[in-house]
Amino acid sequence: MAGIYVHVPFCRQACHYCDFHFSTKTSNAEGMVHAIVQEAQMRWAQNPAWQVEAFRTLYLGGGTPSLLSPALSKALLSGVAEACHIQLKDLQEVTLEANPEDLTAANLDAWKDAGVTRLSVGIQSFDDNTLAWMNRAHTGRQAEEGLLRANRAGFDSITVDLIYGVPTERSWEEDVQRALELPVRHLSAYALTVEPRTVLGTRVSRGDEPEPSDSRAAYEYQHLCSVAAQRGWLHYETSNWAAPLGEGEFGKALHNSSYWSGEAYLGLGPGAHGFLDGLRYANVSNNPIYLQSLRQHRLQQTKETLSNVDRYNERVMTGLRTALGISPEDLAQTTGHRPDEVDPRAWRSALESGDLIPIEDGRFRVPEDRWITGDRVASSLFLVS
Ligand code: SF4
Repeated sequence: MAGIYVHVPFCRQACHYCDFHFSTKTSNAEGMVHAIVQEAQMRWAQNPAWQVEAFRTLYLGGGTPSLLSPALSKALLSGVAEACHIQLKDLQEVTLEANPEDLTAANLDAWKDAGVTRLSVGIQSFDDNTLAWMNRAHTGRQAEEGLLRANRAGFDSITVDLIYGVPTERSWEEDVQRALELPVRHLSAYALTVEPRTVLGTRVSRGDEPEPSDSRAAYEYQHLCSVAAQRGWLHYETSNWAAPLGEGEFGKALHNSSYWSGEAYLGLGPGAHGFLDGLRYANVSNNPIYLQSLRQHRLQQTKETLSNVDRYNERVMTGLRTALGISPEDLAQTTGHRPDEVDPRAWRSALESGDLIPIEDGRFRVPEDRWITGDRVASSLFLVS
């Protein structure tokens, strides 16, 4: 099973912490939609391997896909579907990332009509001072009202994002409570990170802002873990929680889950990555160059063939971010390497310290109370070629 990821490279304004690829110049949005559809047609025609993939999810991310007009959202979704010879109604999940200020009744109806079945809403915080500090374009109240409006419009599958470890006066406890009381099925929470080429990065390097505190991030992460557990939510990936839906089912994110299990994905749009049969490509992260290359019927991209060592390291990293963990046996079969043989001393040390624990079926995972530092455990098991 494969997924389709479409990167919509526009934002209303730049959040101070964000280093994703986007532009605030939206005058060429229509040209961009046409170019992305053209890219889908070219990739599908040029690589027969895509023609035998069974696509099950489509994800419009960015950037801010909710900035597109209803007509352009529809043109993008239907154009990509047609290019890939799929019907949107046959997919198990069609997600659109939306910012709270775009959750208007007109947009919600248009997205439903265009085939969107799931919304991913970037809330980040409900505290208005914190949102202003982040340079977000919405208020906490707008987020709550927008979520309720989306639910009334028939979106029963909604996920929200929060950011923890923020050095403001906001109450994280209140943010968590307000998020979990909304009609959402899924929650992602990410630690604030200071990226160099951002407003926040510049302020921190000049000493105008403090570095985010690790202890505050650790406290807020553990608080979310325990509140979500009390409510019966499933913490199935380091940064992701799924609500109980009854009969042992949870509202997991299908599209993102397929990344973590190493499935193929067709990436479209400037800055998007794709992966198929051990080959990864990355589209140029520049809107004018991307548009120009498509006008010339070329794909401006870099390609990388993953070696067994790359695949082993990636699987260890992504696997240990999930509750399913890793299986040395499976790793040996799929990559030719197993962590207990790559570095027996590091493997033993991770087990003896409790950073790794055995679970069912010969698998091992990082326990929840150490997940916030799980990437360190994974990298200690890497194979260096
Ligand atoms: S809206 Fe999202 S993609 Fe755009 S700047 Fe803010 S965090 Fe980054």
